[in-house]
Amino acid sequence: MIKTQIPELKTLINTPQDIVVVPHKNPDGDAMGSTLGLFHYLKTYNHQVTVIAPNDYPDFLKWLPENDSVLIFESQQDQCEAIINKAQLIFTLDFNALHRAGDMALSLEQSSATKIMIDHHQQPDDYAKYIYSDVSMSSTCEMVYNFIEMLGDLDKIDSAIATCLYTGIMTDTGSFRFPSTTSRTHEVIADLMKRGAKNSDIHNKIHDTNSYSRLQLLGRAMQNLKVIPELRTAYITLSQAELDEFNFKKGDTEGFVNYGLSLKDIIFAAIFIENQQEGIVKISLRSKGTFSVNEFSRAHFNGGGHTNAAGGRSEDSLEATIEKFISILPQYKNELSQ
Ligand code: 5GP
Ligand code: MN
Repeated sequence: MIKTQIPELKTLINTPQDIVVVPHKNPDGDAMGSTLGLFHYLKTYNHQVTVIAPNDYPDFLKWLPENDSVLIFESQQDQCEAIINKAQLIFTLDFNALHRAGDMALSLEQSSATKIMIDHHQQPDDYAKYIYSDVSMSSTCEMVYNFIEMLGDLDKIDSAIATCLYTGIMTDTGSFRFPSTTSRTHEVIADLMKRGAKNSDIHNKIHDTNSYSRLQLLGRAMQNLKVIPELRTAYITLSQAELDEFNFKKGDTEGFVNYGLSLKDIIFAAIFIENQQEGIVKISLRSKGTFSVNEFSRAHFNGGGHTNAAGGRSEDSLEATIEKFISILPQYKNELSQ
């Protein structure tokens, strides 16, 4: 976003209107934290604000302040479309291309509302009038904090906003350990704590709500972990039958891919999760150092994201997807053996 646009944005924000705030499909902590954080901020200006998520999200995010007001496009499509059609302003948060909003993309595209993108993913599309894109940022939540600061409104951050933004920064930085975590990130976090975010409480709500069956599923995932030492790569598979066996619920596999990356000398980790209902294999990719899983996913698996964390998908069977993955890897021998 260019500095000269800030006065325009201030005028927009100062005029009460109908606003929709949208996270990406399969929203994560940063997506829900940033949308709900912005929701609370916009409410202080007496806007009519609605958060519409493209589809449902994990239970471990459903305690965020005002979570109950979130609409789900997939299950409340008519109501959501009516609200989108009426909106004058649409914020899209934590994604870089409209197709990342899933089935909601078309409604967003067709809407005549002024669009504002706040996002930290690589290669942003150019669909919004106002684009605040910064791939060096730890999280969209840190950017929402900056956005509020740019508008001169840090004093409007109450405990609800602080809690939402803290949550997204914490989840997107792997609890402040990924290289995207800067001293500025910690300064923002410190300020959010001063303004009412309860760090230990938030951590417990996100991480200490395991079900027994999720831990059993983690056990199976670890048994399925394979290592290709010469390419410093590790990968995990989970079939639909295995997910069913352990009573899989949305969010249960969150974080599993990181175990592969925790192996000594491994710099590239993947997890392949079969989704029979959608007829796809969902892929999560993580790396350490300069090997770009964003590029890897864009080139081979219809996805993208960041240098060290990306997602993708395959319409082949689980077995064929793994075969493809293994056959591609040697092309990256130089980068992976560094
Ligand atoms: P995850 O593996 O947790 O689904 O995604 C890792 C990161 O990549 C997240 O920041 C997520 O938003 C992003 N991501 C996941 N799938 C896609 C995709 O298909 N396209 C793009 N551009 N980013 C993705
Ligand atoms: Mn994010």
